[in-house]
Amino acid sequence: MLLPTLAQATSLPLIASNSPQLLGPSMQVWADPDGLADIHSVRQLPESAWQAVARRDASFGYSKHAYWLRATLHNPSNQAIKWVLLIANPLLDTLDAYGLDGDRVYKSGDQRPFHQRWIDHRQLVLPFSLAAGEERQLILRMQTDGSANLSASLMSEQAFIHHEQLMLLLQGLFFGALLVMTVYNLSIFTITRDRNYLWYSLFVASFGVYQFIQLGFALQWLWPNSLAWHQLSFPFSSALATLFGIFFTYGILDLKNQHPAYTWISRTLLSCSLLVMALALTAPYQVALFGSFALLIVCAVIGCIITVLRWRAGYAQAKLFALGWSALIFASLFSVLSGTGVIANSLLTLHAQQIGSLIELVIFSIALGSRIRQAQSDYQLAQVRLFAKEHQLRMEQAKSLNLQRQINEGLEARVQERTASLEQALQELSTANQQLAELSRRDNLTGLFNRQVLNEELERMLAQAKRSRQPIAMLMMDLDHFKQVNDQYGHLIGDACLQHAAQRMQQRMRGNDLLVRFGGEEFAVVLGDTDQVGAMDLAEQLRDDVATHPCLHKGLSIGLSLSIGVYALIPDAKCNREQLLRHADHALYQAKAAGRNQVISYESNALGDA
Ligand code: GH3
Ligand code: MG
Ligand code: MG
Repeated sequence: MLLPTLAQATSLPLIASNSPQLLGPSMQVWADPDGLADIHSVRQLPESAWQAVARRDASFGYSKHAYWLRATLHNPSNQAIKWVLLIANPLLDTLDAYGLDGDRVYKSGDQRPFHQRWIDHRQLVLPFSLAAGEERQLILRMQTDGSANLSASLMSEQAFIHHEQLMLLLQGLFFGALLVMTVYNLSIFTITRDRNYLWYSLFVASFGVYQFIQLGFALQWLWPNSLAWHQLSFPFSSALATLFGIFFTYGILDLKNQHPAYTWISRTLLSCSLLVMALALTAPYQVALFGSFALLIVCAVIGCIITVLRWRAGYAQAKLFALGWSALIFASLFSVLSGTGVIANSLLTLHAQQIGSLIELVIFSIALGSRIRQAQSDYQLAQVRLFAKEHQLRMEQAKSLNLQRQINEGLEARVQERTASLEQALQELSTANQQLAELSRRDNLTGLFNRQVLNEELERMLAQAKRSRQPIAMLMMDLDHFKQVNDQYGHLIGDACLQHAAQRMQQRMRGNDLLVRFGGEEFAVVLGDTDQVGAMDLAEQLRDDVATHPCLHKGLSIGLSLSIGVYALIPDAKCNREQLLRHADHALYQAKAAGRNQVISYESNALGDA
């Protein structure tokens, strides 16, 4: 790529055209190592000291040398022309130009106050005019701590004005796009609180500032007199953009949740960025500048490698990210190749890096946008899962409620069952108690009430008769010669005869009458509301019934008879139970005495006594 190094003293004819003429190939250079030579000594240099400029953009890399450059310009037309020499490197520290306008020396560069420029322009614009047929030698002195790159081109004033309008439009579009992306992503950050948008907008903003400085806008519009700050702002803004770029890359490639080495590397690079920023503020310019370049290259290489690794690991967003990186790298390559003259210089190549970075930033922006979609679909998926979970929970709840209901129903049924059986048992118990009570009132053999009942009932019926002044009657009955029955047939048959007699007597009883077994073969009857006549009548019926109905048992017919004593009265207040029993018993005794199988009334007996 080296061009001839022989000095060419030919002059460059200035012919108006729309495309700028590159000055590099028509220039000769003399490097002044200590930068002490002045214009007079340079003019007296021998021809052999001058060398042709090797590169068409007249770049000499990084050095402390002062570079003296000369070119002879020639106006071949028959008219005076106004031309412009445009030095497209706004970061040159100092640039002096001799031969532009008589003895007036053009002194400019970003280490000189902005107002010293002949034309207010972000780049170094050197105007000159040549009379018809005039030939003039221009001598430039360039000295800088940064890249000694002249990037000089010539164009007519008209072409420059035209060119400038287009350039400003394009630069306006570029910075406008960066501004919009910054604001847009910042607002997305304020809405979503997703830090990646914050890092991205800070990355774009700092990158924008970096470009603003690099393209000379910052010195022109932001700090025209802050020369020291302007010098260090370039590596500082570069490191700042790298810092935010690392944060952004770390977030969007989701490195936090990957192998810890990613975090470790990212932290190291972040520390390096901070170190470079500190260097920019404290160390000499060149140290900071090289630091920022080294950082940028290392981060770009590591960023590419990590992006590819993440892509291969199946992380979808890494694909877009890789596309963004490659756009920038491709554009930078394009720019380097055109800078070194391998491909023809043009508007496109001149701004390839800017275009590449813009494409990169747009692609990153799309990558971020796809995060929203990813987040949306994640959200929808989560929602679907949530619904399913909720449905499942509801089903389980319904199931457990059902189970509980069944248990409750079962419990209730069992309680009811137990209550019912308990009630039944209680019922049975009370029935048994009643039966027991009844049994205690009954005579075992005959089933008639026993003597105790007679005592109670007789008392009650007597009181009733006294209250209502109604008659009451008492019958005492005794089977005749019953001892003989026992003796003749045995006690068991005697028992059967007792039962038979009791049964015959019970048949004759009315509702209000009380028949009891008084003891042994003796029975008693209490007749409420019954007078003497009624009592005698019933006694006679009983006697007759027993006498005419022998006990039929095991083929035997055992004749029985009854003796009955009757006592009836309307009781007065003095009348008591013993009186009734005693008088009825007395009548019975008389019936026995009278020959048995008879009914004797106590009254008639009294009369008879009388
Ligand atoms: P009288 O005509 O004077 O009443 O003569 P009697 O034999 O019936 O009288 P007594 O009082 O001498 O005898 C009563 C008999 O009744 C004696 C006893 O063996 C019998 N007797 C009493 N209670 C029962 C009983 O529960 N079962 C049986 N088989 N016999 C009984
Ligand atoms: Mg007796
Ligand atoms: Mg007897």
